[in-house]
Amino acid sequence: MAWASDGAMKALVIAGQDDHHWWKGSSDAVKQILKNSGKFTVTVLSVPNGDNIENYHPDFDKYDLVILLYGGKTWQPDTQKKFEKYIAGGHGLIVLHSSIVPMQDWPEYNKMIGLGAWNGRDEKWGPYVYWKDGHIVYDFRPGEAGHHSLQHPFIVMNKDTMHPIMRGLPLEWLHYKDEVYSKLRGPAINMHILATTFDSLSLGGSGREEPVLWTVNYGKGRVFVSLLGHVGNDPELRYAMTYTDFQVLLLRACEWVVKGEVTQMVAEDFPGKDFFSLRTGFKPPVQIINK
Ligand code: ZN
Repeated sequence: MAWASDGAMKALVIAGQDDHHWWKGSSDAVKQILKNSGKFTVTVLSVPNGDNIENYHPDFDKYDLVILLYGGKTWQPDTQKKFEKYIAGGHGLIVLHSSIVPMQDWPEYNKMIGLGAWNGRDEKWGPYVYWKDGHIVYDFRPGEAGHHSLQHPFIVMNKDTMHPIMRGLPLEWLHYKDEVYSKLRGPAINMHILATTFDSLSLGGSGREEPVLWTVNYGKGRVFVSLLGHVGNDPELRYAMTYTDFQVLLLRACEWVVKGEVTQMVAEDFPGKDFFSLRTGFKPPVQIINK
């Protein structure tokens, strides 16, 4: 594994070609969050709108993990094969928010992300997967994948308090103003749900308890998917990445996908059910805000 000489984990962020999200701002935020932790070095590969993805040949093997903020065209077959081998060989992958939307015609990508949304996905991609009465549900009814209502605050529910990423975090906490994705479909192979939220019918949601954080084992590789982290199409709209829970989860997940364990202590400023907190500089100090 390609460890940096100082022990820092080496992350490659691939960002771009997402018309609905300000990927320059989100990739910059992710870079700051990781660098400020002192645990990671970060390289950002930007793929501007209109650029031809055929001209990009990332050297994945130089990195311990890859973080996706990508919404563009499906990668070339040779890049796909390299990436499949890289992840299956034991490297880490972090998939953030709308990165579950693209590359629906790449079967192995659908396996890596477990569940996807939009771009024509339907029952041929796999069942709807959600949570009901304390259990995971695989719903094979036909229908399109992908839905979200307007952004709003919601309660995130911790579904595996023993998982290294989630251990020590509250059973429930307030995540402030973000998009809830719902009606997700996919192969859901070797997938493990870490957290859910109720997608309220009265707010235009699915009325179901939907997964928001999960992991996938892909060969020897570990994948973490966070649907939290919407960054709108404007420099003022990356607040979801200023929330302490987003940053804590990202840092814990990045360590877990590389090492299979988490050595980070539980953050004292982690939100609770009645308050949320911000790390506006993408690091402490924090701002605690009562609901
Ligand atoms: Zn979004």
